[in-house]
Amino acid sequence: MEQIWNDEKLEERFWSRVDIRSHGECWEWQGQTAGNGYGFFRLNGKKRPAHRVSWMLTNRQQIPTGMHILHSCDHPPCVNPSHLRLGTHAENMREKAAKGRASGSPVLSPKDVERIRLLYALGGATQLDLSRQFGVSQSQISLIVNGKAWKNVPMPPSPRQPLIPPPTPGQGPF
Ligand SMILES: [Zn+2]
Repeated sequence: MEQIWNDEKLEERFWSRVDIRSHGECWEWQGQTAGNGYGFFRLNGKKRPAHRVSWMLTNRQQIPTGMHILHSCDHPPCVNPSHLRLGTHAENMREKAAKGRASGSPVLSPKDVERIRLLYALGGATQLDLSRQFGVSQSQISLIVNGKAWKNVPMPPSPRQPLIPPPTPGQGPF
């Protein structure tokens, strides 16, 4: 394939179809999209995934054979170059599993479950953080921290509740 990044007209045609925003935001493809939400761009009569074209234009190189362009934002129509990076098929699958999009349940150990509950109870980690850290879906984290999954693993005492319950009115010595 020719070096598309040396074709100014092509580059112009590409970026004119992008809703370019600030660095951190998603830049949505305004052209045609496929059923899976990915944009596509016509290149020499062939439909090319727009996020892959974006990566090639920005990095001025071909995507190595067999490599994938991964979205850090998990938003298929996005072509913001700072949200795209090169990755392997395995990484792509791992990310999908971590985000709960793929089938098949990653295996957690009871120790992991204890750790997830403890980290969550301490309040420093959100369910999304934990889902990324442990490679399981957020819904699974929610079931775990709410004690609806892994019922055989005891729940940690919640620091959000006082360890000694306050005296109930009417039952005290006064
Ligand atoms: Zn994005």
